[in-house]
Amino acid sequence: MAPKKQNGFMMFVNEWRNRNAEGRRMTLAEAVYHCGTIWEKMDTQQRGPYNSGAKDANAARRDKRESLNGHGQVDKAQREAAKSLMDKAQREAAESLMDKAQREAAESLMDMKRSTERLVLNAKMSHDLENAKFVFVAFNYFTKALTTDVYVPAEFAACEYSLKEGIRSIYSTMIDPGQIIFGQGSDALHNSSTTHDLPLPPNALGEKNMAKLYRNILDYLTKCQGEGKTPIVFTPAENIGMVKSCFRYLECEDDSRDGGGKIEVFDIQYLLFILKKEVMSVAGLNDEKINKFATDAFFKNDFFEFTAGIACQYHEDNDRTKYCTQSMVTRWAYTFTDFMCGDLAITVQPGKHIPAPTKPNYRIISSDASSLDHESSFDSFYSLPGSQVKKESEPEDCSLSSSRLSVASRSSYKPKDHTSFAADLNEMSEFPSLGMRKSSKHHGSAASAQRKWNAGARN
Ligand SMILES: [Zn+2]
Repeated sequence: MAPKKQNGFMMFVNEWRNRNAEGRRMTLAEAVYHCGTIWEKMDTQQRGPYNSGAKDANAARRDKRESLNGHGQVDKAQREAAKSLMDKAQREAAESLMDKAQREAAESLMDMKRSTERLVLNAKMSHDLENAKFVFVAFNYFTKALTTDVYVPAEFAACEYSLKEGIRSIYSTMIDPGQIIFGQGSDALHNSSTTHDLPLPPNALGEKNMAKLYRNILDYLTKCQGEGKTPIVFTPAENIGMVKSCFRYLECEDDSRDGGGKIEVFDIQYLLFILKKEVMSVAGLNDEKINKFATDAFFKNDFFEFTAGIACQYHEDNDRTKYCTQSMVTRWAYTFTDFMCGDLAITVQPGKHIPAPTKPNYRIISSDASSLDHESSFDSFYSLPGSQVKKESEPEDCSLSSSRLSVASRSSYKPKDHTSFAADLNEMSEFPSLGMRKSSKHHGSAASAQRKWNAGARN
């Protein structure tokens, strides 16, 4: 039964019956009769609340009816209830998806950490920590697809490193992917001009055959790490996704692949942390100060950022050495050396462990006390007794040492074996992608002196 339309008088009757015990004993008809005599004597002001109350009730009823009948819609309250249920369901579905993604990410992170720890611990167990070999890799890319995590690679470098030998070999190549994802031209141009400055396709330089390049990289990794193992490479955590995507990009075009070519990409900063801890332990040093925060800070300082002569020829010539992948992997190797070789009293060889003595490396230290404290705690790591590394100041660099700037991490290493690095590089020349470097630039003392002079003039 549809509810009756309310009026002020009937509201009065209902209220009167609720308030008076005798009213509750009357029938509705009796109450209406009784109340009628009262209602007659009431003026407009007295009737007002009942009349407006009735209007409100009627309006509310109309709304409800319209929502029920008008367009076959469900009641607003029901709608809201349904919506909140759907929201809840969606939220829960989204949360469970996120949970799953997070769980998977957490699991793969744990995997990565365990594998890295195993690599380091195995080397430590066999008393061969200093000869354990690690491969560092870096990619530059032209562009990233807007909606997917597809990166179009532009340059690649890998560096095989051990504490004992420093840089054992370097693989470096520019990449010409032939095309850029449609509509991503300006994005690619922006990315290139602000970082690596490599010419975009169709003018890109370097290897054009992605499948061949991928096989060459796999061959290189196999040569470094041995047959039958899943190759493991290290790159900074924030680049892992990009590096994996670039490998996938190359791999996609390799039809001959037998499926065994998957490359594991791990966090180089976690390796630095674990390796440093174990190096300290092997050396019998107190490692209380070693935590991930401290080793990350050391890595990110990038003390060798301005090292000349370690980038590929293109980036040396175009003054973009910082963004050159070959320079990056080389700097990471120098950073590992700088952080750990002193602990193990390993004799560092310029050009392999640290920059060749062509140019000092500048480190800018902020003048506020807290960061100085921070820095000095790192300094202690490589000035430990037994370290073969000696640091001297070089007076010609004083121009840089204002009150706000300080010069550190200078290379004053005397070359002992000037040929070994070059010999290793030549050995790698069987890789067709290698060889962007003119040999004179690399170890010629004239070129080195020239660079040093240039650097002095620039600064
Ligand atoms: Zn380069």
